[in-house]
Amino acid sequence: MMRIGQGLDVHPFSEDPDRPLVLGGVMIPRSPGLVGHSDADVVLHAVTDALLGAAALGDLGSVFGSEDPRYAAAPSSVFLDEALRRIAQDGWRLANADCTIVAQRPRLSDYRRAIADGVQRLAGVVPGTINVKATSTDALGTIGRGEGIACLAVVLLERPAAVRPGEAIA
Ligand SMILES: [Zn+2]
Repeated sequence: MMRIGQGLDVHPFSEDPDRPLVLGGVMIPRSPGLVGHSDADVVLHAVTDALLGAAALGDLGSVFGSEDPRYAAAPSSVFLDEALRRIAQDGWRLANADCTIVAQRPRLSDYRRAIADGVQRLAGVVPGTINVKATSTDALGTIGRGEGIACLAVVLLERPAAVRPGEAIA
């Protein structure tokens, strides 16, 4: 059995010069960070949302609460961990994910591999499971004016036929 899910996340840049930019759990140097309740990691948020969507488990906001004080400045790996735990409970495992980061700045092409490796490490999946692409909007719109970063993610979940909903994979 297979299920597909999609996720989209957008955060504006912070005006705090000391706030780090974190994408896929990886610190990107020489760029302002993004504003958000957690660490505003758009890549992990999009992937987590896609995981929850694929397993019909709701969305990031409803599962974690965008104002929950437990997640203030939290690393977004806590969301990914919990989503993976929930999908595993239903017998699903992550087959692959494809992410597209949309950013006018900074240039991310040199970091695509590092970001994919970061997500793979946090998700505990083998290399080649996660792909990360980077694109701009050719200066069009809010992203094109460099006001923030967006990320889209598509994930595929697979479940061995013998496993039924509610049955965890050992
Ligand atoms: Zn987010």
